[in-house]
Amino acid sequence: MLLEPPVEGIPTRPCPTCGREIEQEFILCPYCRTQFARRCTSCDRSLRLGWGVCPYCATEVGAPALARTGR
Ligand SMILES: [Zn+2]
Ligand SMILES: [Zn+2]
Repeated sequence: MLLEPPVEGIPTRPCPTCGREIEQEFILCPYCRTQFARRCTSCDRSLRLGWGVCPYCATEVGAPALARTGR
C-alpha cells in the first residue's frame, strides 16, 4: 500500500497514533481524529493539551481537558 506523499513546502510529521503524515501545525489528526494540541484563543498558536496558559502571549487557556481530577 502506498502512503500519500507529503505536500511540498509544508512541514509534516507522522501522527503518533495512526502514523499518517500530517501537517506540523495540525492540532489533531484528520484521519484518526486524535487530538494532541489546541489553539490559543488569543494568538492562535498551537498549544499542548496539558498547558494551562499560552507561553506565547500569556493568555489563560483554561484547565486541560484531560487531566481532570474529580474527587
Ligand atoms: Zn492519526
Ligand atoms: Zn497565545
